[in-house]
Amino acid sequence: SRRPIVIANWKMNKLPSEVSQYIQYVAPKLVGYPNVDAVLAGQDVLLNTMVMAAKDTSIEIGAENMYWQDKGAYTGETSPRALADLGISKVIIGHSERRNYFRETDEMVNLKTLAALRNGVAPIIAIDEAVQLTSLNDHAHWIVNQVVESLKGVTEQEMSHILLAYEPTAAIGSGQAMTPVDAQKSLRIIRQTVADMFNQDIADRVRILYGGSVKPANAYDLLKQPDIDGVLVGDAALDATTFLELISLAD
Ligand code: 13P
Repeated sequence: SRRPIVIANWKMNKLPSEVSQYIQYVAPKLVGYPNVDAVLAGQDVLLNTMVMAAKDTSIEIGAENMYWQDKGAYTGETSPRALADLGISKVIIGHSERRNYFRETDEMVNLKTLAALRNGVAPIIAIDEAVQLTSLNDHAHWIVNQVVESLKGVTEQEMSHILLAYEPTAAIGSGQAMTPVDAQKSLRIIRQTVADMFNQDIADRVRILYGGSVKPANAYDLLKQPDIDGVLVGDAALDATTFLELISLAD
């Protein structure tokens, strides 16, 4: 069965001076939850400090974005090769904030996914959900299309490194999480799409997360849905105690 995972997405909130204290608080307590993967994703300026603080702990450090070229004259971009060299094991790709504010397209998400895999960094591919979709059909088609486009050219073997995260735009930062039943429906569509693209075995093994206003009050009911393997958490995970609470609920 699939190992539960809790990923904090700190977005653009934490300062370099705040990082070590958070990690030093959380790390020793994770020993009590050996069945859950704990990942902290931070903006680039924090990553070195995060990696240092998490050294010799079970915490994995992730990036929030990167470019699709390995290296070169791309001023201001982040190299996937540099992330790997630093010891970053995961990277969020195509978060809805990237898609909405920075015009990232499915094609860019696909290029970044392939670049992450090529460099040994596991992509956490975010699948969003536009607010204006109304019919159930539009909604399913939108999700399927993003999964198919982002996974183009990914091999069966590489699928073992992929994580998928479903984050409906309306649920992000709004306090209005999707209901567990609705989230389950969307995650089932995502898993079915992976089965159709690859096979049932790969679909059964791929971990799929829900994101959008997850907090201790709703995490347990979300995580007990059959297709929800983990949560991707913004606001609530800015607080170390709350992050640990979410870990305990995933255990
Ligand atoms: P919130 O948990 O703040 O709604 O953010 C969700 C998110 O975007 C995580 O990537």
